[in-house]
Amino acid sequence: MRPWSERTPEAIREAFYSPAPAPIAHGDAFGSEDGGRAERPSSKPALVGLLVLGIKALKSTKILGLLGSLLVYALSLGWLAAGLLVAGLCIHEYGHVWAMRRLGVPTKGFYLIPFMGGVAIPARPFEKRHEEAYIAAMGPVFGLAATPLVLGLTWLLRGSLPHAAAAAQVLVFLNLFNLLPIVPLDGGRIIRSVVSSFSPAAGIALAVGTGLICGVLAWSFRAPILGLLGAIALLEVWNTRGSRCHLTALSSRHALRWLGVYAALMAVGAALLVGLGSLSGHTEVILSLRDI
Ligand SMILES: [Zn+2]
Repeated sequence: MRPWSERTPEAIREAFYSPAPAPIAHGDAFGSEDGGRAERPSSKPALVGLLVLGIKALKSTKILGLLGSLLVYALSLGWLAAGLLVAGLCIHEYGHVWAMRRLGVPTKGFYLIPFMGGVAIPARPFEKRHEEAYIAAMGPVFGLAATPLVLGLTWLLRGSLPHAAAAAQVLVFLNLFNLLPIVPLDGGRIIRSVVSSFSPAAGIALAVGTGLICGVLAWSFRAPILGLLGAIALLEVWNTRGSRCHLTALSSRHALRWLGVYAALMAVGAALLVGLGSLSGHTEVILSLRDI
C-alpha cells in the first residue's frame, strides 16, 4: 500500500467509506493487513486532513466495538462470562481472518458488534468457492479448537470444573450456532459453496430460501436476530447478482470433501456440547452462561 503522502484524495475517500484497517498498530489479533503503517504527509490540505481524521475515527470503531460488547455482556452476565464470551468471539473471528491471509485474500480484519456478535471482512469479493468454504470453516475450527483453552483457563480462575465446563459449553454452542446451514452463517456458506459448485441457481435458491425461512421464524418467534440474518441473506443475493455465477466451482471431489468437513465439524461440536453438559450439569446453555 502506498504511503498517505502519495495517495490521491479519491483513494482516501474510498478508505473513508469502507471500514479502515485495525486501530492498533501492533494489533495482529484484530487482523489488520497494514494497520499502523501509514505515514503522515508533511503538509496536506485541510480537506485531506479532515478525511484522515475521519479514517482514524473509523479505525477506533474496532476498539469501541470490543469495549461496547464487553460492557453490554457484562451488564447482564458479569465480567468473567462477558470476558470469556468476547474472547470466544475474537478467536472465532480471527479464524476467518487467518484463513483470508492464508489464501492471500486481502482483509479488513474483524469487528465486534454489541448485541450482534462479530464480523470478519474480506477486502475483495470471493473469486473461488474454495475461498468461501475455507474462510467460513476456519471460524468454527478455531472456535472449537479453543475449547480446552477456555476449559483450562476458567478452571484456573474459578477452581471449579463444573463452572469451567459451563463456560466452554457456551463457546461450543456459539460455534455450533454459526454452523447452522443458513446462508449468512458459516455453515450456510460452506453448504452454499458445495451446492453452487453443482448448480449456481441452486446456490442462489438456497440463500433466498434460508433468508425467507429466517424471516418467517423471526416473525413467529419474535426473534429479531433471525430477521437480521434473513435480511443479510437476501441483501447478499441482491448485491452479488450475476457475479456469483463466475466464482470458480469446487470439483466434485472437493465438494464432497467439504461436505465431510461440515459433517465432522457438526459432529465434533455436538459431542463437545454433550460432554461438557454432563460435566457442568446443565443442558440449557443460557443457564450455563449465567452460572459462570
Ligand atoms: Zn464465523
